[in-house]
Amino acid sequence: MSLFRQEIDKLTAYMPGEQPPPGTKVIKLNTNENPYPPSPKAIDVLRGLDEQSLRLYPKPYADDVREAVSDVLNVPAEWVLVGNGSDDLLTMIMRSALWSGKRVAYPSPTYVLYRTLAEIQQADVLEVPFGEDYSVPSEQLVSAGAAVTIIATPNSPSGTAASNDLLAGLAGKCRGLVVIDEAYADFADDNAMDLVSRFQNVIVLRTLSKGYSLAGLRLGFGVARPDVIEGLSKVKDSYNVDAVACMVGAAAIRDQAHKDSNVHKVKASRKVLSERLQDLGFRVWPSQANFLLVRPPAGDAESIYQSLKQRGIFVRYFKQPRLDDKLRITVGTDEQNAVLLDALGELVK
Ligand SMILES: *Cc1c(COP(=O)(O)O)cnc(C)c1O
Repeated sequence: MSLFRQEIDKLTAYMPGEQPPPGTKVIKLNTNENPYPPSPKAIDVLRGLDEQSLRLYPKPYADDVREAVSDVLNVPAEWVLVGNGSDDLLTMIMRSALWSGKRVAYPSPTYVLYRTLAEIQQADVLEVPFGEDYSVPSEQLVSAGAAVTIIATPNSPSGTAASNDLLAGLAGKCRGLVVIDEAYADFADDNAMDLVSRFQNVIVLRTLSKGYSLAGLRLGFGVARPDVIEGLSKVKDSYNVDAVACMVGAAAIRDQAHKDSNVHKVKASRKVLSERLQDLGFRVWPSQANFLLVRPPAGDAESIYQSLKQRGIFVRYFKQPRLDDKLRITVGTDEQNAVLLDALGELVK
C-alpha cells in the first residue's frame, strides 16, 4: 500500500536543470542564471546581518521587500505579495484557485512547473500550442474558460514576448485569474505591470532570480489587487520568506542601477551571440529574455548538447515534442559565449 495520494504516486516530479557541484569548472548556460554578481549593496546587507534577525521569526509578509517594490514600481505596498521565489507564488495561486475538475490553461511549450503544480491539485490541465512563430493562442485560451490562465512573457524556452494589447484583451475576456509570469521582464522591451490597475483578475509575477542575479536567495513577488493578494495570502506558509532573503532582497530591489547595468550587458551579449549563431547556420528565435532558443543547422540538438557537456559547457535540452531539435542557451559573459561559439563552430562543421 502506498503512503501517498494516488495522484502523487502517478506524478512525474519536476526536473530542474542540472546543477554541477560548486567548484566544478563548467560554463553553465542551462538554467538562465545571470552571469554577473548581485548588487554590492545587497551583499553589504548580508555581511552586516545581526544575530537578532536570525533568532527571531521574520516578518510574515516580508514588509521590507513589499516597501522596496512599492517604491521602485510605484504600486501600493498592499498590492504586493512576496514569495520564496516566484515558484512559491505559483504554488499559492494553484492551491487557492484550483482543485479537482477546475481548469488551468496556458500556451505550450512553456515552464514545465505549471503542469506539476496543477497536477498536485488534480486540476484539469489544458495546454494550448503556441503558433508556429510563438504567437499566443488567445482565442483558444479565452474559450477554455479556465479558473487560471497563465502566460509566461517573455516565455521560456522560446524567449518570445506577448504584446500588452494581447494581454489586455485576454484579461478582459477571461473570467478567472490571469497570471502573467514576468520572470524575464527585466530583459524585455516592455512589461505588463500597468494591467494590474486596469484588471481585477490579473496578477503579475516577478523574480530576483534572473535580472537581479539572486537565484540562490529565493525571492519573488506578485503584484495584484488587494482582494487577490488576500485570497493568496490565506494559503501561504506563515513565514514563507526568511529574514535573510527579506533584507538582502529589499536592498537588491532598491539598487536598480546595478540591475540595469547587468541587464544592459546581457542584452548587448544576447545580440552578438544571436548574430554569431546565425552565422554558423543556427535558426535563432527572437528573444526578449536572457537566453536564446536555437535550432542547429542539422537539427541534431541532442548530440550537440551531449558533446558540449563533455567539453564542460552546459546548455538546456528538452526531450519533448517541438523542442527535441532545439537547444535553450543562457546568455553568458562575452568570454563564456566565445568559448561556446568556438565549440559549436567545431561541432556543426
Ligand atoms: C525562472 C522562472 C521562474 C521561477 O523563478 P524563481 O523565482 O526562481 O522561483 C518562474 N517562471 C519562469 C517562466 C521562469 O523561467
